Amino acid sequence: MANETAVREAGRDFIRDIIAADLESGRIAAIVTRFPPEPNGYLHIGHAKSIGLNFGVAEEFGGCCHLRFDDTNPAKEEQEYIDAIKRDVRWLGFDWGEHLHHASDYFERLYEWAECLIGQGKAYVDDQSQEQIRASRGTLTEPGTDSPWRNRSAGDNLDLFRRMRAGEFANGARVLRAKIDMASGNINFRDPVLYRIIHAAHPRTGTSWCIYPSYDFAHGQSDAIEHITHSICTLEFEDHRPLYDWFIANLPVPSRPHQYEFARLNLTYTVLSKRVLTELVRRGIVDGWDDPRMPTLAGLRRRGVPPEAVREFIRMVGVAKANSIVDVAMFDHAVRDHLNRRALRRMAVLRPLKVVIENYPEGADEELAAINKPEDESAGTRRVPFGREIFIERDDFMENPPKKFFRLSPGREVRLRYAYFIKCREAVKNAAGEVVALRCTYDPETRGGNAPDGRKVQATLHWVSAAHALEAEIRLYNPLFTRPDPGADGDVTRDINPNSLEVLSGCRVEPALEDAQAGVGIQFERQGYFCRDEAPGATALIFNRTLSLRESK
Ligand code: ATP
Ligand code: MG
Repeated sequence: MANETAVREAGRDFIRDIIAADLESGRIAAIVTRFPPEPNGYLHIGHAKSIGLNFGVAEEFGGCCHLRFDDTNPAKEEQEYIDAIKRDVRWLGFDWGEHLHHASDYFERLYEWAECLIGQGKAYVDDQSQEQIRASRGTLTEPGTDSPWRNRSAGDNLDLFRRMRAGEFANGARVLRAKIDMASGNINFRDPVLYRIIHAAHPRTGTSWCIYPSYDFAHGQSDAIEHITHSICTLEFEDHRPLYDWFIANLPVPSRPHQYEFARLNLTYTVLSKRVLTELVRRGIVDGWDDPRMPTLAGLRRRGVPPEAVREFIRMVGVAKANSIVDVAMFDHAVRDHLNRRALRRMAVLRPLKVVIENYPEGADEELAAINKPEDESAGTRRVPFGREIFIERDDFMENPPKKFFRLSPGREVRLRYAYFIKCREAVKNAAGEVVALRCTYDPETRGGNAPDGRKVQATLHWVSAAHALEAEIRLYNPLFTRPDPGADGDVTRDINPNSLEVLSGCRVEPALEDAQAGVGIQFERQGYFCRDEAPGATALIFNRTLSLRESK
């Protein structure tokens, strides 16, 4: 049986152990999981952990994974988010096949089940305001107090609930609550709210409804309707599990899902709260949900992070039952590791300084062979144009170098990668005394970058031909926050890194980069990993830095 092989290979964490045992014991015939986002924002790297787990186990154990939108609050949910979530799950490399579902598909059934609870005397319409309900809920150490409306008759409750549905009351005028136990040690049992009045158009059901189920009332029942076998969620829902089980026990649901909780992903220097991310977008602190500084999947994609690296990172992090904080350096490592193996090398000069090679024939040029990927011969070579005027990196030259500076300075010889040895004769300065160009000579005998007489140089520089290079804008992204635990003092906006983005214009890149594709990582030699910006309709060449070549540069 295919399942058996999968079971043996995949038992790597407690969730997989549970699934393997359930399949082995025959408690279930096949597993069904789901990823249940609320479409009130974009997905982030934390969601990727949940996606990787739910879709991953379904794949490994020969089951299936549903994508279900928990679209129960039209006041906060938008079609834009629904579309973005689908795009990002696909980008990560997962496929829900025919199993695209919405909590809103079940609104009618959930409503019937609410009436069913009313009929059993297990739910009532409460006229208290939201504030009153909150105030009478009690605390962890003190019991709550009963609502004055708690003992309405089933008939009255049914009548009022139907009138809520019919739109007779304003937002917040009434709610439907479960009637469980206001003194329960588990606050979730203190008569949780099942339905709220929200007069707002829903992206899918339009204005058919003006009452909406709470997340708690919709979630477990949606799982039951979809015959989810393992409802995997994060630890903060552990205390909700008894409530979900209570609903399942009291309603004629078609199946009984089991919930298992795992630790959410936390990352240093990163905020993974949708509420805070929404604030950053709304206040314009970042340039939208897909700003490359955002931990959203859309932001990571635009920054040039490959989906394979995200999946590899998720795999490295693993699945545990205790909360912890992962060092963002581990994420960067996964990204560098992938790009180092995959990215083609190109030359780009970020802060150009012109070099005139005085003994190179005027008006002439030539093409030199450059290696696309040093560790992978099959990636081949390309031709890079060379001429009398080139650009090098401004900080590869120093007029009065300190002892340890081995790159270009007056009288010093260096190698131009794939080209020639050049020697600096003099620095040309403007009226303000700033170096604006260098006058150099080259040794025609060193074509390809080696001297026949065996003499050595101490540095190899990247460069581009001034006549052939393309102009580009290059955006250098740095961490969005200055401290590993942003917001620990209360306000995350105080921890925003003022240098999280540096935009360089007038950069020069080799002509082959004209065809660079968004989403395909490139290594700019000696500079880092970059990718073309995916801004739709952009004609200018823009590159985003994914990461520098090494940690902390
Ligand atoms: P909120 O519910 O506050 O809007 P959320 O991040 O929980 O925010 P959901 O859309 O409910 O958003 O999340 C969908 C799924 O992703 C949930 O099952 C949730 O447990 C999981 N998830 C969210 N954040 C993380 C995280 N940091 N690590 C792992 N899983 C996460
Ligand atoms: Mg949530």
